Amino acid sequence: MHDNAPDDRYDLLVVGSANADLVIGVERRPAPGETVLGSDLAVHPGGKGANQAVAAARLGARTALLARVGDDDHGRLLLESQRTAGVDTDGVLVGGAPTGVALITVDPSGDNSIVVSPGANGRLTPEDVRAAAPLLAAARVVSVQLEIPLETVAETARRLPAGARLVLNPSPPAPLPAEVLAACDPLVVNEHEARFILGEGVGGAPQDWAPALLALGPRSVVITLGADGALVADSRADSLDHLVGPRVGAVDTTGAGDAFTAALAWRLGRGDDLREAAAFAVRVGAAAVTSQGAQASFPTLDEVDAL
Ligand code: ATP
Repeated sequence: MHDNAPDDRYDLLVVGSANADLVIGVERRPAPGETVLGSDLAVHPGGKGANQAVAAARLGARTALLARVGDDDHGRLLLESQRTAGVDTDGVLVGGAPTGVALITVDPSGDNSIVVSPGANGRLTPEDVRAAAPLLAAARVVSVQLEIPLETVAETARRLPAGARLVLNPSPPAPLPAEVLAACDPLVVNEHEARFILGEGVGGAPQDWAPALLALGPRSVVITLGADGALVADSRADSLDHLVGPRVGAVDTTGAGDAFTAALAWRLGRGDDLREAAAFAVRVGAAAVTSQGAQASFPTLDEVDAL
C-alpha cells in the first residue's frame, strides 16, 4: 500500500496520542469535596500526537498518524478531525480501551485544572509499532511525544528507517533511555522540559543548557522559549543559533509547542537544515498563539506568510 518511491513518502509520521479535551468554564475551580456549577461542556479534539498531525497537514505536509483511539464517539470525533485536516488515518487503531480524555476546568483568569485518562493511548504498544512497519518505512520524519507508553516510543526509535529523522518532544517529561536520546535529531524541549532532563537544580540560562543536552546523546537540540522564539544547537555544525519569530498579540498559547514541533519536523523532512526549519517553526508557533484553542488555532501556510 505504501511504496517507498521518494515522492510518495510521508513528509511526517506522527506516533502519538489522541485525546478528547472536555472543557468546562467555571467561576472558581472546585476545592476537594466541593461541587461547582460550570458552563456548557465543550469537546475538542486534542492530544499532542493528534495536534501535531493536524498542524503539519494544515501547513500542507503529507502526514500520517499512528495512534490508538477507543471504539466510541470521542474516537470518531478524533478520526473525523484528522481526516478533515487531510491526515492519513490508516495507522489509527481503534479499540482496546476508551479514547483518552482530558477533563479540563478553566477559571476566568485562564488558570486550569486538568485530569487526563490516557485510555487507548496507554494501549498503543511496541507490537503496534512493529505491525506498522510499512507506514514507518514510508516516513521521512517521525515525530513522537511521551503521552504514549515509553516502550512504544523506544520501539519507534529502534524501527526508524535508514535516512529518516526522529523528532522527540518529551512531554509530559519522563526519564528517557539513552537509546532514545541518541536517536533524536532533534530533541525539542521547552524550558520546563529542559530543566527536568538536566535536573531541577540546573543553573545558568537556556544558552548554557544546549551543550549539556547535546552531551546526553541527541544529534541536535531545540529549546523553545515562548515569545522569545527558540534556540537550536547542532552537534555536527557545532552551532548555537537563536531564532526569534514576529512579535504578535498572544491570545491563547495552547498548542503552540505542537504547532512549532510539527512545522519544524515538516521542514526538516523537506530538506531544510535545522536553523532554516526552526526559523519557519517560530513563525508558525507565533501564528498559532494569535487565536483561541489548539487545533483550531493552527495556521495554514498562507496565514504564516501573511504574518
Ligand atoms: P505549549 O505548552 O503552550 O503548547 P510549549 O511550552 O511547549 O508550548 P513554547 O516555548 O511556549 O512551547 O512555545 C513554542 C513556540 O511557539 C515558541 O518557540 C514560539 O515560536 C511560539 N510562541 C509561544 N508563545 C508565543 C508568544 N507569546 N508570542 C510569539 N510566539 C510564541
